[in-house]
Order: sequence, then C-alpha cells, then structure tokens
Amino acid sequence: MQARKPLIAGNWKMFKTQQEAVETAKRLVALAGKVTECDIMIAPPFTALSRVHEIIGPSAIGLGAQNFFWEPEGPFTGEISAAMLVSTGCRYVIIGHSERRQLFGETDQTVNQKLAAAFKNGLIPVFCIGESETERDAGNTFSVLDKQLKMGLKKLPLKTYSSLVIAYEPIWAIGTGKTATTDQAQQVHHFLRSLLADNWGNSLANSTRILYGGSVKSTNIKELMGMPDIDGALVGGASLDADDFNAIIHFFK
Ligand code: PEP
Repeated sequence: MQARKPLIAGNWKMFKTQQEAVETAKRLVALAGKVTECDIMIAPPFTALSRVHEIIGPSAIGLGAQNFFWEPEGPFTGEISAAMLVSTGCRYVIIGHSERRQLFGETDQTVNQKLAAAFKNGLIPVFCIGESETERDAGNTFSVLDKQLKMGLKKLPLKTYSSLVIAYEPIWAIGTGKTATTDQAQQVHHFLRSLLADNWGNSLANSTRILYGGSVKSTNIKELMGMPDIDGALVGGASLDADDFNAIIHFFK
C-alpha cells in the first residue's frame, strides 16, 4: 500500500474582502509556508484568488477555488471557468460542497460535469460528499454515499488521473460544532475506499486521499488522523484565522 501525503484544506466560504484575505494569507505563509509534512490548500472567495496567489506563490501553500462552471466559456453570466481559475494560480477546486448542493441546486449530475472539467483542466478536485442527519438517522448513510460517489465519478477515466481528493463531510457536522466520532468517520472512510477499490481498482483506492470535514479543530485533528483511512481534513470555520488553521497544520510538524 502506498503512503498518502495528508492534505489540510481550508474553505473560506463567503468570508473576507480582498484585503482581509491578503492579511490572512500573509500570516499563514509566515506560520506554515515551509511545511512539507502535509499538503496545504486554502480556498478564498473568487475576488481574492489572484491577490492571495501573489502572497502564497512560492510557499508550500496551494491555492484552491470553491466552485466553478464546467463549460470552457460562453454566455453564462456570473460564472467562472476552470481555465479562469487556473489563470489565477489555482491548483485545486472544491466541488459539490453540501452548501452548494443545498442552497444552489447542485446535483450529482452537475457535480459529475464539474469533476470532468476539473480533471480536463489539470485542477485537483476536492469532491465533497456527505449525508444529512435525517439520512443518517434513517440508516441510509451508506446508500446515500454510494450514490453520491458513483454518480459523481460516473464515466470519468479515473485510471488516467492520480489526483482525486474526496472529502467526506457529514452535513450535520458542518459548522455545528458536532464532529462525527473517529469510529464513525473511519467506518465511512473505509467504506468509501472499498467502493473505490471494487469499482475502479486498488491502485486508485490506495492513492486517493479521503479527507474528513465537519468542525475540525486543533483539538480533534490528532484523534482523526490516528485513523488509517483518514488522509487529512477539509476545514471551514477554523481555517478563517491563520493561527487557528496553523494549529491544525502544526499537528504534522
Ligand atoms: C466545510 O465548510 O467544509 C466545513 C467542514 O466547515 P466547518 O469546519 O466549519 O464545519
């Protein structure tokens, strides 16, 4: 089995003006710009991508976006293409975050189109899946995740890509302060890796990083990272402050 380098990814959501984003990025570069023990990604709002890239450019911190539209260009008012993201310095893009699915009508089909376009443009997708509290309580966690994973990855020539990142984010744990227990998270991560192995082969299953997301903080990262199938974290709230985010990254140093 090959070793997977952990990834700590920060999702800044709709927070920070350009100036605020620059200040946070500067502080993060000072604190964690030379870390090599894990990969680091931050995803500021679109309006701050270029400026943040100027700050983090030569450091160990990679730039990500929170969303994009799959068409290469055209009359799609308000949308941004993968090539536009690449031109700002993005290496990563978050796809199918539950807030986009719940608030902006994203479906497994649109997520699939975005994943295809991300790969085509050389962006590393952070593909988000997760069950709601109602789905978990009804005992449907695994069937929901099975569908999200298979439909999201449908017809993608995954064997030619080695950069897939999956983020398992139970919706009930996002921004709520509730975290899945490490056993609950490991059980799901193991299930997802087995699904990858059964459908796309062991090589993809062993190389895909599966992040956990949902109220990750410096106080719970150690326990989560102790699990064999957890390869890092997608962090919302605790990524907004550079010191808090660095405290999570610091676990790996
Ligand atoms: C997220 O937005 O992906 C997330 C996990 O948020 P939080 O860490 O705030 O729960």
